[in-house]
Amino acid sequence: MALIVQKFGGTSVGSVDRIEQVAAKVKKFRDNGDDIVVVVSAMSGETNRLIDLAKQISEQPVARELDVMVSTGEQVTIALLAMALIKIGVPAVSYTGSQVRILTDSAHTKARILQIDSQQIHKELKAGRVVVVAGFQGVDEAGNITTLGRGGSDTTGVALAAALKADECQIYTDVDGVYTTDPRVVAKAQRLDKITFEEMLEMASLGSKVLQIRAVEFAGKYSVPLRVLHSFQEGPGTLITLDEEESMEQPIISGIAFNRDEAKLTIRGVPDTPGVAFKILGPISSANVEVDMIVQNVAHDNTTDFTFTVHRNDYHNALQVLEGIARDMGAREVIGDVDIAKVSIVGVGMRSHAGVASRMFEALAKENINIQMISTSEIKVSVVIEEKYLELAVRALHTAFELDAPAGKGE
Ligand code: ASP
Ligand code: MG
Repeated sequence: MALIVQKFGGTSVGSVDRIEQVAAKVKKFRDNGDDIVVVVSAMSGETNRLIDLAKQISEQPVARELDVMVSTGEQVTIALLAMALIKIGVPAVSYTGSQVRILTDSAHTKARILQIDSQQIHKELKAGRVVVVAGFQGVDEAGNITTLGRGGSDTTGVALAAALKADECQIYTDVDGVYTTDPRVVAKAQRLDKITFEEMLEMASLGSKVLQIRAVEFAGKYSVPLRVLHSFQEGPGTLITLDEEESMEQPIISGIAFNRDEAKLTIRGVPDTPGVAFKILGPISSANVEVDMIVQNVAHDNTTDFTFTVHRNDYHNALQVLEGIARDMGAREVIGDVDIAKVSIVGVGMRSHAGVASRMFEALAKENINIQMISTSEIKVSVVIEEKYLELAVRALHTAFELDAPAGKGE
């Protein structure tokens, strides 16, 4: 008999009909003898609807009150799911985050879980009930309702699994697993049977949206076996694991991630003296703008060019700050470019194989795609390219690293 935490996302509980399907699924596991804790999101669209309501009152709603309101989305779905379970003969009980006592810090709208009281849940399980817990929410020391940030129900699921020492945390969603890349871009993308936490973390932070990054971090830190599955289709899904066993068939690259959310800024002709990077990036960071990739060119004539990327939402802010810096430093000019995209190959296999980056550059060269920036880590290589070549680049790399599904599969 296993203890399983199952998390169902917004589309999986998007209607009463679907909630009843979820209940039927939970019943199957329970009939198997497993203890089940279910974590649910709000019905799809509900959190956005609530936030919209608040914005009609104020562009910047008070964070505490926003949390009181958006947490109601999940409160509706836990009750509906518990009712649906009881209706088909499965004893069930619902709990909000504060009723469980999912203790968080007081950072409203982006709170972090500090501690989970598992006592009550264990008691309910022992009494033979399925426990349905609201995702995305908690309570702070003072008793205020908090929420964990968008997509936070994944984190609730993983954190509960860790606290309860569950055998597996299953994340049910509208895809049947983690793919080598977005199947909407590459029709031959394949579902991965397994991926490591490290790779999943890179994929998630590089733009693959299957799981919330924090949830993956949490699962890795507490070694919670995590599985991504389709809510309404049968299948093994994708297991996210700690071990990186090497097998002959194991591809070097596990996946290709991409994102269009970045913008590039260049400051040209800055004096090449110690402290330049700090003089440029210090004010950028003080303006609360996060910098991703950074490239400083080799100097000539005692001046150099300095390029970095930021989130596209921060572009105008960063550009303004940079223009001020350029004036102060007597730099030649500032250039900005929002029509860029980042493409990354990710795989722990890179550790034991040479020539991975050059294979990537070769594939892009063959398609005549110019690389504007490059950055690498132990298990990934990222490039910045012109946005209009993004899909071509992803497809070319998918083929070059032999990730395409055999004909007739995955199409
Ligand atoms: N309902 C919340 C959201 O839409 C949390 C979640 O779905 O994970 O972001
Ligand atoms: Mg989600």
